[in-house]
Amino acid sequence: MANESNNFAELIAHCKEYGYIFQSSEIYDGLAAVYDYGQNGAQLKKNIRDYWWKSMTQLHDNIVGIDAAIFMHPTTWKASGHVDNFSDPMIDNKDSNKRYRVDHLIEAHAEALALEGKKEEEFALLKNMDALIAASDYAGLKQLIVDNNIKCAISKTCNWTDVREFNLMFSTQIGSVAEESDTIYLRPETAQGIFVNFLNVQKTGRMKIPFGIAQTGKAFRNEIVARQFIFRMREFEQMEMQFFVRPGTQMEWYNFWKEERKKWHESLGIPPEKLRYHDHIKLAHYADAALDIEFEFPFGWKELEGIHSRTDFDLTQHQTYSKKKIQYFDNELKEDGKPYGNYIPYVVETSVGLDRLFLTVMSLAYANEKWTKEDGTEDSRVVLRIPAKIAPTKLAILPLLKKDGLPEIAKQLMDDCKGSFMCFYEEKDAIGKRYRRMDAIGTPFCVTIDHQTKEDNTVTIRYRDTMVQERIALADVKHLILGKIN
Ligand code: ATP
Repeated sequence: MANESNNFAELIAHCKEYGYIFQSSEIYDGLAAVYDYGQNGAQLKKNIRDYWWKSMTQLHDNIVGIDAAIFMHPTTWKASGHVDNFSDPMIDNKDSNKRYRVDHLIEAHAEALALEGKKEEEFALLKNMDALIAASDYAGLKQLIVDNNIKCAISKTCNWTDVREFNLMFSTQIGSVAEESDTIYLRPETAQGIFVNFLNVQKTGRMKIPFGIAQTGKAFRNEIVARQFIFRMREFEQMEMQFFVRPGTQMEWYNFWKEERKKWHESLGIPPEKLRYHDHIKLAHYADAALDIEFEFPFGWKELEGIHSRTDFDLTQHQTYSKKKIQYFDNELKEDGKPYGNYIPYVVETSVGLDRLFLTVMSLAYANEKWTKEDGTEDSRVVLRIPAKIAPTKLAILPLLKKDGLPEIAKQLMDDCKGSFMCFYEEKDAIGKRYRRMDAIGTPFCVTIDHQTKEDNTVTIRYRDTMVQERIALADVKHLILGKIN
């Protein structure tokens, strides 16, 4: 297709216009970095989540899924290190009072240098920043900002406070009376719900190491600089899997999941050249190895998923804080012919943001196409090339006219298919206009019922991606679509 464009601002507008994503509480001018999913967005999000859930829990016989509560005992977050360590270095501009995440402020300056063609300066700045962050050298980070004359976007001054840490957890009160209440946190990651249930699941499921526990659910972070649409939000959804392994085998499993997860993203239609690994230089307090799977978003390469070797840190911490033994008895591993005994398992984690994956799918799918027809006239369309297996609506059923018994045949087809996949029925407007609307919401197949259907029981099927139309038997429609989406 000639002349395709893929503009991020256009994509955001399209998401709103076609019921994918709305700004939260928009009638009150919205809430920063919080979004609602509309009728098509909620379905796409569910389809992506189901695809992940199925591949984790159904296609791996040693992974089970749970659904832990968002609220957890406050000691959980003390044990996990989030109360003391879950913070980002921030800096405030004294003239505008605007607060920045230090790495975002420096990265934005580096991007500006790159745009001016100063590639070497950009590279040196980012390298310096990485080293200072790795050393937690906050005085050095401030000096780097001052030395590079990095200014606040609002006040345009370089009048900065010192660099400080800010905790990203949201807190709230539990209990109806103030005296009874206690501070609790909205979970900043779903992982801890898995760790505290390790023994419950292992014992009730009679799970044998190595095994995994998977979970999807909301997480909350008070991101200071929330930006780039649904890429960085304050309320978002994670899909995490904690894989429990024998101590000493963690690097083997880390490498296994690193490969496995990249292949999984490719199975969702993401081209391999749009994915890359990024090894962490500064490891989190719980990790002995960590990397990001990055995707080339419309605004650059950014983290899509994290793969972390979390050692036995979390289970050990929960054992210490709860004073309950959290160990696994391994009677398969033998030393001198005797069972190896009890140990605290090591953990390899895969953690992907559902909203970031949604944005990945949408940014690959969106295309504004223009072409010249055979008769020399120009034509165009906006299309969402969402892979058929996760598209919100699979089939549009369109009677050519609202009369002559055509709607009755169409509704019969709808009744036959709607128990198996999501269908949409429409009889209003010219057929060309209806096709364009289905392209814009990403429906991969349209079936038109016309007068010929009454004569020979055939229909026209139109494929979204190629716009090719062909005649098939009405009785074959359901089978054909099922074949394409499974
Ligand atoms: P970043 O460096 O972008 O802040 P992170 O390293 O803090 O991300 P993790 O703690 O590893 O992220 O979380 C796992 C996944 O959860 C991320 O790979 C991302 O897909 C998703 N995620 C994290 N924070 C957000 C957010 N604020 N909004 C949307 N998704 C998020």
